[in-house]
Amino acid sequence: MWQALDCSNISFLLKLINRIRLQRKMNPVFVVFQSLIGVELMRVDTELISKANQIRQANVDDEVHLRGLIEISNYCRCNCLYCGLRKDNQRIRRYRMAPTEILSAARLAAEFGYGTVVLQAGEDPNFEPEVIAGLIEQIKKLGLAVTLSLGEWERQTYLLWKKAGADRYLMRHETANPELYSILKPGKRLSNRIKNLEILRKLDYQIGAGFMIGLPGGLDVEHKADLALLTHLQPDMAGVGPFIPNPDTPLGHFKAPSLENTLSILAQVRLALPSAHLPATTALESLYPQGYEWGLMAGANVIMPNLTPLHYQHQYQLYPGKAQTRNAAAYHQRIMELLNKLGRPVGKGPGHSILWERRQKDEKSK
Ligand code: SF4
Repeated sequence: MWQALDCSNISFLLKLINRIRLQRKMNPVFVVFQSLIGVELMRVDTELISKANQIRQANVDDEVHLRGLIEISNYCRCNCLYCGLRKDNQRIRRYRMAPTEILSAARLAAEFGYGTVVLQAGEDPNFEPEVIAGLIEQIKKLGLAVTLSLGEWERQTYLLWKKAGADRYLMRHETANPELYSILKPGKRLSNRIKNLEILRKLDYQIGAGFMIGLPGGLDVEHKADLALLTHLQPDMAGVGPFIPNPDTPLGHFKAPSLENTLSILAQVRLALPSAHLPATTALESLYPQGYEWGLMAGANVIMPNLTPLHYQHQYQLYPGKAQTRNAAAYHQRIMELLNKLGRPVGKGPGHSILWERRQKDEKSK
């Protein structure tokens, strides 16, 4: 059993990788080398980056949409091997924000002129769906769009939140490899994740999928299967960021992918999804100084400034070294300066997905 293995040393991961190797018949030396030292199999392809930037400009213009992120709870019933919020991690202090605190953070988003608030949490069964529905209603009254990133729930829960006014739902699939998915996310199946995304789309959410670049055990450095799955799903937004090892998890000994690889994959996502929203992720900024800037130059058009109160942010450790360490106002200022420097205007209004707007038009014309 995977859970029974000693997760604190490399032998655990070697067994994990070996299991996948047996299924895929790959050379184990190659796999271990790639995973342990983050070998740079790709160099930054300036032509690719520039093409992605052109495609971004032609399809979603120069605007950068700012989505205020509020990390409302770090409780999680899941045990994903790469994530600091996994339920077996005893090294973080758990919190659940009070509704009044969440609404204060949402008001801050409105003050800063952001069009959207993202409510994010682990899969926290003690955060009552009705309380979240009430929060959505209150936030909508501030004139903001609401994106949820709260994990997998029953259809009726998604429906409750949709009726309360939620606009979008982010649910990254992390890897398109079903075997690796079930190893990295014990008790979960990729097919179920995809089913959840389909349910959300049928309920008229704008959906967000995405994957992690350089996950240990991922054999395909070019992420062809991940790109193919995104193309199949045609999400309204795609969250694609680098794996960052967290020492409080079983994957803490692995290496993050190279910047070159990360930017190349990001650029390829833009080519695959010309009209989708594509964030320059906090993970990219955390891993590399100027990560936001490079991400925006490689096809991204969204940034999610963190509005979670600082004393909670420190406990929301998906991975260590998270980019934002200043208060929300200072961080907002920094992002505005960056956009100014790049000549990229801030997106106005809710910043809905063009793909979703097209679907709405098609529906009306039927
Ligand atoms: S990745 Fe999400 S579902 Fe998995 S442990 Fe972390 S917060 Fe929970």
